[in-house]
Amino acid sequence: MESYAVGFARPDRWSHTGQGSARTPWHAVSALRPAGELDGEVELALCGAIVQIWGCQQWDRIGAGRTGCPECRRLSGLAWEVATLSRAG
Ligand SMILES: [Zn+2]
Repeated sequence: MESYAVGFARPDRWSHTGQGSARTPWHAVSALRPAGELDGEVELALCGAIVQIWGCQQWDRIGAGRTGCPECRRLSGLAWEVATLSRAG
């Protein structure tokens, strides 16, 4: 399974309309290196957002929460897992 780092949408990139990423600031970044090594780097998220890597976070946990980007969740395949979990629970 592919691994993903967690990126936080940079506040200076948020739109001023109050829509979009401000509510779901956490994005998935395809990680070619361990997330710890990418910590602090600015990368492109799966959905195309500019994010800063938070190496200490885990996408499968963050992405399943309400503040995870739905588009990144879908693109990373996490949506399927979340749906399965919610059905089971
Ligand atoms: Zn995203």
